[in-house]
Amino acid sequence: MSADLWSRALAVIPGGVNSPVRSFRGVGSTPFFVARGEGAYLWDTEGRRYVDYVLSWGPLILGHAPRVVVEALAAQLARGTSYGTPTEGEVELAERIVRLMPSIEMVRLVNSGTEATISALRVARAATGRAGMLKFTGCYHGHGDAFLVSAGSGVATLGLPDSPGVSKGAAGDTGVAPFNDLDAVEAVFKRQGDQIAAVFVEPVIGNSGLIEPMPGFLQGLRDITHRHGALLVFDEVMTGFRVALGGAQARFGITPDLTTLGKVIGGGLPVGAYGGRRDLMERVAPAGPVYQAGTLSGNPLATAAGNAQLEWLEKNDPYMRLEQVAKKVADGIASAARDAGIPAVGAAVGSMFGVFFREGAPRSYEEAKTSDTKAFGRFHRAMLERGVFLAPSAFEAGFVSTAHGDAEVSFTLAAAAEAASVAARG
Ligand SMILES: *Cc1c(COP(=O)(O)O)cnc(C)c1O
Repeated sequence: MSADLWSRALAVIPGGVNSPVRSFRGVGSTPFFVARGEGAYLWDTEGRRYVDYVLSWGPLILGHAPRVVVEALAAQLARGTSYGTPTEGEVELAERIVRLMPSIEMVRLVNSGTEATISALRVARAATGRAGMLKFTGCYHGHGDAFLVSAGSGVATLGLPDSPGVSKGAAGDTGVAPFNDLDAVEAVFKRQGDQIAAVFVEPVIGNSGLIEPMPGFLQGLRDITHRHGALLVFDEVMTGFRVALGGAQARFGITPDLTTLGKVIGGGLPVGAYGGRRDLMERVAPAGPVYQAGTLSGNPLATAAGNAQLEWLEKNDPYMRLEQVAKKVADGIASAARDAGIPAVGAAVGSMFGVFFREGAPRSYEEAKTSDTKAFGRFHRAMLERGVFLAPSAFEAGFVSTAHGDAEVSFTLAAAAEAASVAARG
């Protein structure tokens, strides 16, 4: 059935998938088709069960089909799906984001993380009157033209350094520096600091595997941008409500000017958001002249799911326990790999984790790239055969949910011990 679906998909969808990293090309195989998800598990169309560490690439922090989200969706569904006029749900979601994200005073809801970053860049350019932007290698900020430069996993595993179809004009204003390298950032600002509208950063990289900021790095970005009149934008589409209730900005105590969100705030439905300082956000239409709009923005189903999920997170603050589970999984997989003779290192920040098949935790994408991706591909396939679904790329973070407990961790680590020895044999 799965093979049949795959050939049908290949015939009518480019590469068979609606987002490149789903293709499993990064691990040299082909995807399975999902029939349903519940809690920590996915079932494919053949009835095989997987412990899911992808969780729709981040959004499902309460696992699949959690009761609070399903009930909120059902209640909204009966009242209609979209109105194109304001609803209470979008006000509630905006209030919740403003309450929980330390630096956000006003927020605009959009439909994806990509929309959020494109819009935040537009605001930054309008506010500073500058066109330039600095990003970091291995950070992914969605597929907007200006961001498709050294953009991490989805682009990296396919070996596309840039994308055709992005004009020199669109990408030409984008500068790139290695993550955790303040000297490189200083050097760029020294040369052209008066042209840079904003520095965009994933405060914890989740799109080249998991790479943590070194002590002082994020503060250094705050200081340099202040000094040069540029804005600091935290892209917390992945880290928001994942590494702490208040995102990476709460965890590391840094106040960016603008923040982009997505994933968790939509509870598995398509959502994004950008927000920050009131004086900046008041530039957005119709309050101000910076145009940005969306037919389905603030969609009632999406805000119902997002509100239900965030309400649960706020009440239960599960982040300490999530980090313990994430750590057990990451350290356990890395140690299974090392026992089999494959150099490996694991790390967790909140509910995000990463395992690199290399010696020592990488500080940048440049270092992460030296991982043994062949061994990871063999390991990934062997884990899948044993019922564990890890992200199909050596350069993606993993995620745990509140539905992942001791039983899932034990099952995963038993599978990892076997899969590591398979991977080590080559
Ligand atoms: C996923 C992601 C995006 C893009 O969000 P989409 O909803 O896929 O458009 C942007 N930035 C970061 C950090 C992400 O992880």
